[in-house]
Amino acid sequence: MTTVHRQTLSSLHPDAQNTLIVGLIINSFNPRSFDTHSKFGSFTRCVWTFTLRDIETNTINVTVWGSEDYVKNLVASYHIGTVVDVISAKVNLRKADDKNEMFVPSVSSLFSLTVNEGIALIQRHEGADVDEYKTLLHLPIKNISNVSSVQNVVENLQTMLNQFVNLVVIVTFIGEAKNIITKQGRSMVTRDFEATDGSYPDTVAFKLWENDWVERSGLWEPKSTVLFLADVQVIFNRYKKKNTLAIVRKTMITENPSIPQTIEIRKSVKLDKDYQPHDPFIVPMPESIKNVMTIMEISQRLHQKKPDNVDRIQFSTILYAQVTDMELDNPNIPIIITRCALCKRIVTNRKESCMNLDCPCGNGRRAPENIDHFYIKVNLKDDTGHFLIGCRLTGPPAEQALGCTPTEFRAMMNEERQNLKWKFLMEQVEVRLQVLGPSPTFSRALYNILSLKRIRDI
Ligand SMILES: [Zn+2]
Repeated sequence: MTTVHRQTLSSLHPDAQNTLIVGLIINSFNPRSFDTHSKFGSFTRCVWTFTLRDIETNTINVTVWGSEDYVKNLVASYHIGTVVDVISAKVNLRKADDKNEMFVPSVSSLFSLTVNEGIALIQRHEGADVDEYKTLLHLPIKNISNVSSVQNVVENLQTMLNQFVNLVVIVTFIGEAKNIITKQGRSMVTRDFEATDGSYPDTVAFKLWENDWVERSGLWEPKSTVLFLADVQVIFNRYKKKNTLAIVRKTMITENPSIPQTIEIRKSVKLDKDYQPHDPFIVPMPESIKNVMTIMEISQRLHQKKPDNVDRIQFSTILYAQVTDMELDNPNIPIIITRCALCKRIVTNRKESCMNLDCPCGNGRRAPENIDHFYIKVNLKDDTGHFLIGCRLTGPPAEQALGCTPTEFRAMMNEERQNLKWKFLMEQVEVRLQVLGPSPTFSRALYNILSLKRIRDI
């Protein structure tokens, strides 16, 4: 076996051989697979890039190449926050004109590392110094003297296209993780969140695209988690048709950075203010809902005068109530709807395509790919004697509450469906609810159930 030499990032040089570098993973991209063709045949290659840090001021980007199995195994084992040994990686001198540099975080090292399957190695670092490396997770990645205020950036968005800024913000809203299928047919998980620094009345909306960050953000807490966002970019948003701030591949996130601003910003944010997302169709993460309301309070809130600058009143709450009806066993009420997996349009015949000519499944370029969703109406009543009629229990929250998938439900006999219904009927439940008041285009309030649990199961 070759002897390896433990080196720090600052001691690396281009011809370094048999190096062992220990560091903490502070950013990680989703792996990407693609087909390659050579004289030996066609096969799938996979690439994964992450950022490693070994002291406060030293960072480097590492790119791993290999078979799909090899790379996906590494990705499943090593996440942001893992301390790893990178052994015998190829040390490359970074070049200023390298296009790949545009799509990775800015790092301090003059080099990048390449790990090729079979030649180099990544393994979990074992040693007394693991905790020391882990403290690097909360040290800001850049000098914080160069932080912009949200107000300054938002008011100058029009003149700042493509520019990068650094922000320190507190999270105000966390959306539920969302499975999406891109137009190219790739399946992805995303999460929306919003944040403020108190300098501006409005919050800023961001979307996370990388699996590691989608997962980590599931543990963030509204009005408590502070983020240092380094290299957030001003981009032109095609859907909103205006410049917006976005987390891009250059962006680095430090959670609850150990800087005085973290404490200051927590003090300055108005804790009693109910921060709601800009987009009413963004579903809040159920665990992030903390306030409790009765049905009477919900209806009083809906009858309050709507502020002039919003289309509709919207809020989310925990509600303790009794299920008075849940249509699960009425053959005349369809409770499963089928949608196109790509364009989400409702499909009437499960075997057919969405007929949407703008969608690859609808125009015949791809075979139809349809997904079944639950769509169940639930009626609730609470101790105030008031009712909430026609609450919608759909998608993943319905699957979680019922403990089955639409396919499993289809296979059930009517008696089984009745049993499932009676599991909830007249039961005390904890409901996490998104309430959307009437809007100019939709005259009724909507009650979306984000989670439904029997009290006895909690
Ligand atoms: Zn479609």
